[in-house]
Amino acid sequence: MSSYDVTVIGGGAIGFGTVLGLQRRNPYLKIALIEKDDVVSNHQTGNNSGVIHSGIYYKPGSLKADFCVEGRQSIADFCVENGLKYDRCGKIIVAYDDEELPRLNNLYERGVANNVQGLELIGPERIKEIEPHAAGIKALYSPNTGIVDYREITEKYAQISMENGADIKLGTSFEDYWDPRTVGKNLILETSKGVIETKLTINCAGLYSDVVAKKMGVTPKLRIIPFRGEYYNIKPEKKDLVKGLIYPVPDPKFPFLGVHFTKTVHDGLVEAGPNAVLGWAREAYRKINVNPKELMSTLSYPGFIRFALENWMIGFNEINRSFRKRVFVKDLQKMIPEIKSSDLMTGGAGVRAQAIGRNGELIDDFAFEFTEKSIHVLNAPSPGATSSLVIGKYIANLAIDKLSA
Ligand SMILES: Cc1cc2nc3c(=O)[nH]c(=O)nc-3n(C[C@H](O)[C@H](O)[C@H](O)COP(=O)(O)OP(=O)(O)OC[C@H]3O[C@@H](n4cnc5c(N)ncnc54)[C@H](O)[C@@H]3O)c2cc1C
Repeated sequence: MSSYDVTVIGGGAIGFGTVLGLQRRNPYLKIALIEKDDVVSNHQTGNNSGVIHSGIYYKPGSLKADFCVEGRQSIADFCVENGLKYDRCGKIIVAYDDEELPRLNNLYERGVANNVQGLELIGPERIKEIEPHAAGIKALYSPNTGIVDYREITEKYAQISMENGADIKLGTSFEDYWDPRTVGKNLILETSKGVIETKLTINCAGLYSDVVAKKMGVTPKLRIIPFRGEYYNIKPEKKDLVKGLIYPVPDPKFPFLGVHFTKTVHDGLVEAGPNAVLGWAREAYRKINVNPKELMSTLSYPGFIRFALENWMIGFNEINRSFRKRVFVKDLQKMIPEIKSSDLMTGGAGVRAQAIGRNGELIDDFAFEFTEKSIHVLNAPSPGATSSLVIGKYIANLAIDKLSA
């Protein structure tokens, strides 16, 4: 049986960010990372928008605000140091009518309170200078927002982790554990490829983090509900319609940022989206993916029922936009009036792990739970990828304390 100081479950940005954080704190730790898929960053990390967020949106004093502002710089530095793709292309968050102006001004104040550098409120002329095809009456300009490829970044995290001595076990799924009270001092993890003995386990299982926590004897105060985000791509010959990142002013009642235009680091390919529709399975990347057991578990969860009843109108609009390209395009035309349906082709999709509490409340901030021998990352939504090295450092500090207790 293999034996480790720490075993991390989940090979996304947070799992590998944690391994790097641990290795920086103590290079002698014996660390394993198990990932159920045969490749790393196959889920949220590898299918996200690729934005290095600057920290504008988050409540001052929240973990998201603190981690994102530090995380933005650390990801940018990591890309530069390792020769990875990074473009500090800037972003505008645009108001289209007077009603949105107070919310735009609030965002500016939040950003300033969070110490986001370089923010500017700009009028229509400056909007046109930055994004010649964009509409809007006023915008918040964030020059330091950038774009990267988080799949590429996480592969680099994995390579460095291995070079530093971590055991990366791909195609190895966490199945169950044996309680140390019954088997001795350490935890015994049952995996699809045999058992592992470990002093500490760190659960970074993303869309399955609540399931893994439950299997390890923790009762999370939330449930992960999968929301699929679908994208269109702008056809290559029309990609000049967008120079950087164009976002709407988000609806404060809804956790997602609304459909936006995102330039990617891949040859200037531009994505439009994502929307947010309920996934009929935790890893439902296509409309037809259904897992009856997981779907029933979502639909019967009291928190989801309350959330759905309170937000049925938003949900209806998202479904409508998912099935009718015309509706999707109409929303995009608010941002870029000249864009046409024929300028867009179907793109990819990502699934967000949205944590919802039993009373239907959306858990906004990063959330963790702890036992004596385990740490569970139960909510790591956007800007989780931007914050991955900082979250990793935070967890590593907690882990080292636990190991030396
Ligand atoms: C559509 C979308 C757009 C986003 N855009 C951005 C953005 O632009 N910028 C940003 O900063 N953030 C963004 N995010 C958020 C960001 O992607 C996440 O915060 C981050 O990727 C979370 O990383 P993770 O490691 O927790 O999860 P994941 O990347 O999902 O990794 C979890 C891993 O755990 C593995 N796993 C699950 N169960 C088991 C098991 N039993 N045994 C072993 N392994 C297991 C999975 O296979 C998976 O690889 C976006 C997210 C989505 C979905």
